[in-house]
Amino acid sequence: MEKTNAVPGDYVELSLVNRDYQGMLLETPESEKGIVLLKLDSGYNIGFVKKEVIEVKVLKKFSEKKEELEIKKDSGKPNVAMIITGGTIAARLNPRKGGVDWLDNPESLFKFYPEIFNLVNVSKVEVPFMKASEDMDFKDWQKIARVAVKLLNDPNVKGIIITHGTDFLHYTSSALSFFLRNLNKPVVLTYSQRSIDRASSDANLNLQCSAIAAISDIAEVMIVGHASENDDFCFAMPGTKVRKLHTSRRDAFKVINGKPFAKVFPDKIINVSEYNRRKKGKVKVDAVFEEKVALVKIYPGQNPEILDYYSKEKYKGIVLEMSGLGHAPGRRARNSWIRKLAEIQKKGMIVCATSQCINGRTEPRIYSNGRELLETGIIYLEDMLSETALVKLGWVLGHKDWAKNRDAVKAKMLENVAGEISERLES
Ligand code: ASP
Repeated sequence: MEKTNAVPGDYVELSLVNRDYQGMLLETPESEKGIVLLKLDSGYNIGFVKKEVIEVKVLKKFSEKKEELEIKKDSGKPNVAMIITGGTIAARLNPRKGGVDWLDNPESLFKFYPEIFNLVNVSKVEVPFMKASEDMDFKDWQKIARVAVKLLNDPNVKGIIITHGTDFLHYTSSALSFFLRNLNKPVVLTYSQRSIDRASSDANLNLQCSAIAAISDIAEVMIVGHASENDDFCFAMPGTKVRKLHTSRRDAFKVINGKPFAKVFPDKIINVSEYNRRKKGKVKVDAVFEEKVALVKIYPGQNPEILDYYSKEKYKGIVLEMSGLGHAPGRRARNSWIRKLAEIQKKGMIVCATSQCINGRTEPRIYSNGRELLETGIIYLEDMLSETALVKLGWVLGHKDWAKNRDAVKAKMLENVAGEISERLES
């Protein structure tokens, strides 16, 4: 490779003997000396042996200018408040590392997506923390709920938009669905699968549709995001009925066992199913949470001795993600779960069941295995999603007065508090 004035971050063209490549030059890590790294427009990184690169032409110099924050105020438009929490939607490529990092100035995401200002006036921006959603836990959900309630009870705010990472977004949407009681306005969670620097970023449409949902009459906690791979409209999806079903597609989130509340376009909203409407009154936070809850997936041949660990560590509740209609290895299995499940429940542990099928409802009465499991006292959670069930169990057990009475816990787990149980299943 000839000498070049290209530095990491520059947009360059690399010439090899039989092909040219364009992309952002990345810093070569110490351990990979002799390699030239390029971030292609597709987002993928590719490495070349230095000796094989004939020429590096700089097409565009990298500018490290700090983004100047400018939030356009327009009092003629409806006010929405934003809570920025991190995730890809508030991140951009770090050319030195080759990975995406948080924006230095979180509010600068508006620089990249100014179209939101054509629809609403972003009157307040709160940044409680900047995290990937996989780094969050219940304390972060509580923090978001406390910030949200202040904004929701401000008479000048029509609705709120929370930007968030995608991986565990559906846990946060479930938590907020339980934590925010007497909800009076829209609470919209949104995301992007691809960061700002990618031409294919999905954030712009998601943010515009979120703005439309935030000023709509849907007083629910909802996730708003791409309805398909096309960049045309989004779905507003119930916070307790959503799951991330794809690692990379823009329409990663789907409603399970239910319907979206609405189809949302950047200029209109079309209602699809029932929802609670905007109303007067104040929102209350009920953000208690019992940390000693777990979600365990059943697999063939699994030994129930794993339950001893949870007992020893004084867990208060477990959600078992069971097979099919709600089964775990029964009496005829080499490692039967029946005795151990009866034992831990007798000692006070709450055991709930969901299905790993994702779609459909649990029904333990069809097979003898299910009946025997049911007899141990397990609470079968109808069509509730496992992630929602874990969050709900933590929330229910966080209420000391309910937690001390097994029947009260069962009744609450089976009460449809925030749309988490459907009476009828949608296809
Ligand atoms: N791992 C990231 C997160 O969940 C991915 C994303 O933001 O989409 O925060």
